[in-house]
Amino acid sequence: MAYASPPANESGADKPREECGVFGIHGHADAAALIALGLHALQHRGQEAAGIVTFEDGRFFSHRGPGNIADNFGDESVIRGLQGNIGIGHNRYSTTGETLARNIQPLFADLASGGFAIAHNGNLTNALTIRRKLVADGCLFQSTTDTEVLIHLIATSRAESLVERMVAALGQVEGAYSLAALHNDTLIGVRDPHGIRPLVLGRLENSHVLASETCALDIIGASYVRDIAPGEMILIDSDGVRTAHPFTPQPHRFCVFEYIYFARPDSTIEGRNVYESRKRIGIELARETHIPADIVVPVPDSGVPAALGYAEQSGIPYELGIIRNHYVGRTFIEPTERIRHLGVKLKHNANNEVIRDKRVVLVDDSIVRGTTSTKIVEMVRAAGARSVHMRIASPPTANSCFYGVDTPDRSELFAAQNTVEEMARIIGVDSLAFLSIDGLYRAMGETGRDPDSPGYCDACFTGDYPVRLTDLSGRKADGQLSFMTRLA
Ligand code: AMP
Repeated sequence: MAYASPPANESGADKPREECGVFGIHGHADAAALIALGLHALQHRGQEAAGIVTFEDGRFFSHRGPGNIADNFGDESVIRGLQGNIGIGHNRYSTTGETLARNIQPLFADLASGGFAIAHNGNLTNALTIRRKLVADGCLFQSTTDTEVLIHLIATSRAESLVERMVAALGQVEGAYSLAALHNDTLIGVRDPHGIRPLVLGRLENSHVLASETCALDIIGASYVRDIAPGEMILIDSDGVRTAHPFTPQPHRFCVFEYIYFARPDSTIEGRNVYESRKRIGIELARETHIPADIVVPVPDSGVPAALGYAEQSGIPYELGIIRNHYVGRTFIEPTERIRHLGVKLKHNANNEVIRDKRVVLVDDSIVRGTTSTKIVEMVRAAGARSVHMRIASPPTANSCFYGVDTPDRSELFAAQNTVEEMARIIGVDSLAFLSIDGLYRAMGETGRDPDSPGYCDACFTGDYPVRLTDLSGRKADGQLSFMTRLA
């Protein structure tokens, strides 16, 4: 079922915005070290905080902290302290205010049946609504993340086994979740019924691995077994792997933005290599928006595969006209407008010799606030380009994501506030063109977007939200500030 896009001022600037990576392993003597390596390969999914929880002989071991994996797990003694041959890990990115230590995952709770740790990628869209009810019933929340709602629902469930409790809890939440959880010596993986976020199963010798993306299997030499299916729950213990499909099946709506920007290009998701998909998107972009020019220049790194596809299709030479400094994190990491501007300057520099006197096609994957494009175009013009034509390898991002990708409120989304002509003028280009939504689906191997059954979650482009936005409508109704905002 589809839900209409919320009005701009309702879209929840105070929502918890999380982009995360999860990893789990069962049955390996070096569990903690392998989890740290897996999370390192998933670092692009979140750089704000990281954590690992392991289990051995009835005891849980955990280390969580702000920063990236190397900051937290670069020290061998930390890894040694995380005992056991089973564990899960998480890296997190959130832009809501300060980093709260108590929000760092995996979250952990002592349940009647034993310890339970959980790592979540995605966003729940009715967490506030459930949380209010639970708080009214006396639940004491320790964090401000949506994920903690799951722990309370599991703890208060009357079902017998942990698995039944988990199913009952997950049956009440709405939104996107790919989970790696640990209950004593059982590793649990779950993907929401729409399959919005990725989760794969891998194998390393006799041990089983869960990871957000296949690049995290590659780093430890694990082989890819399969993607966890939408709505599938997988249990891994000393008896092996069991699987269940306990939820009502829903239309498959994997996040198409994972292919456009978010996932690592060397990952393969649901049988599609991310790099190849991006290149095909570039080919489609050139078909739709070709313009005579001297060079095709990617905005590195995010525009590189699409620019290669664009150059291949158009026959215009591909050149590295912008060089990226790799020792600066992603532009979005910086929380304020002023620093974001500074961040872009720190990150990219024009390769003057390549650009001077050229008609340049600049290719990037997406425009969000418009900050990056404006700075880059200024730089390319200052380097002496004769003309600058910006080509974007996705449709205009006109709607916020509520399922786990950090997009700002609609009021800050460049494409929600401006027409293509206005955007072109503000960015300062001679021409600007975006890939069409049908072109995006063609690049993904379909004939176009079927509005009755789109096959992907593309809400950021279309406003067609596959899972209802209960918290948002609730807030609209009662006009209250969210509980999370007041706590965060
Ligand atoms: P902006 O300056 O806000 O227009 O940012 C656009 C750039 O940010 C694009 O070049 C993308 O590569 C990158 N980007 C797009 N979406 C995200 C996101 N959710 N998180 C971090 N970076 C993003």
